[in-house]
Amino acid sequence: MIKKQGKIYEELRAYLNELPVIDTHEHQIALCSNNQELDILSFLASCFYYPSDLYSASIDYAGKAGSTDIASKQDIVQFLRDSSNSFDDRYEVWLKFHKRTCYTAYAKALFDGMRECWGLADISKNSLLETQEKMRSSRNQDFYDKLLEKYNIKKMIVNIELLHILNGARFNRQVCLFVLDLPSYHEINNMSSIRKPQLQAILGRNIVTLDDYLEAFEKYLVKSIEFGIVGMKDQSAYTRRITYEYTDRGTAEKIFNKIISNPRDNFGTEEVRPLEDFLFHQFMHLADKYRLPVQIHTGHMAGLRNEIAKTNPANFTNALELHQNVKFDLFHGGWPFMGEFLFLGKNYPNVYLNMCWANAIDPLYSIEFFKRALFTVPHAKILGFGGDTGTLEMTIGYIELAKDNIAYALSDMIDMGWIDMDSAKSISADWLYNNPEDLFGLGGLL
Ligand SMILES: [Zn+2]
Repeated sequence: MIKKQGKIYEELRAYLNELPVIDTHEHQIALCSNNQELDILSFLASCFYYPSDLYSASIDYAGKAGSTDIASKQDIVQFLRDSSNSFDDRYEVWLKFHKRTCYTAYAKALFDGMRECWGLADISKNSLLETQEKMRSSRNQDFYDKLLEKYNIKKMIVNIELLHILNGARFNRQVCLFVLDLPSYHEINNMSSIRKPQLQAILGRNIVTLDDYLEAFEKYLVKSIEFGIVGMKDQSAYTRRITYEYTDRGTAEKIFNKIISNPRDNFGTEEVRPLEDFLFHQFMHLADKYRLPVQIHTGHMAGLRNEIAKTNPANFTNALELHQNVKFDLFHGGWPFMGEFLFLGKNYPNVYLNMCWANAIDPLYSIEFFKRALFTVPHAKILGFGGDTGTLEMTIGYIELAKDNIAYALSDMIDMGWIDMDSAKSISADWLYNNPEDLFGLGGLL
């Protein structure tokens, strides 16, 4: 938790607790079933993104000291998650590496969330075991619903494999809204990536031509819209530079035909890229046709050992220029590319800037962003919060941190004489609720 002295901060921070929130990006379906065997070290080691920091701090981890069994071959997070290793052995290892990374925002926000949700007071063995008992007995749907209510989270925009949901998987209908995840539909490199069962089923025949593929995708999209999706989402930045060349159809079709004519072959990344780029732009034309906003991953990536330059939001410029009627919701504060991120928000009427996850990656960056954004970008285009988690305890820790960051930034702006308290309150309501409500057309849903 970030604190700042002074009445202005305190008044604003208290006001933020009263506001309704739309959580603009999540990977959870807001259901919670009780687990009598919950293991707290395994739980903590599964709360991405904190485990990434544990990995990052443990290059010298060599497994359980003196062990010759399989556990010694597990990496640190696998070891912690595997409850067949004794609690005491795991606690000892966890404490050593946790102490190296306990001040990152990932770590502090997770443990703040654990304190908020379960009263976890410290990281002693006893406190962890007591909390484990509480979680075993009370971590259920009632727990989940009460926290959503307490933190006034009205809706979550959820990014999971939509196919499961369309096929009838359960989810919390009160809270969850979905987006269609695009990458698997444009990452085409062999026959099976073309002939996806869900696309062939909706087309009613085998996909043979590029036209078949596009027709099947559009039908699947329409089915998803009828179900109620509120947008599309693309996170190709994990694997490629987010510059999509505007490729001509003939070039794309030749590659498609080669793949479909060689059903047992896999094709290389460079060879299929023009087809992938073509498909991406076709999907953006569909986003325009069906008035769907598109969420785009930019900046920092989950996990380790990825390459950052390819995710610079400025790489996405040509798509922003080509698809001027599509509203793009650029993610993660563009961390660490704040300058480029702010420029895109200022320069393109079709760009919205989303601080999902960013608040928990780097609070100081976020505070600076909120201040600079107020100076430079229309405040109606800023989305203040998205947890980007799969676990409610993390969402709670992250939402508290996001509110701290917003209150810190806007109280600084009041101190500077740029805005007054009423304006600060109205801006924060826009950032946390009104702007996402407007962008995703949720007016009638809430
Ligand atoms: Zn995400």
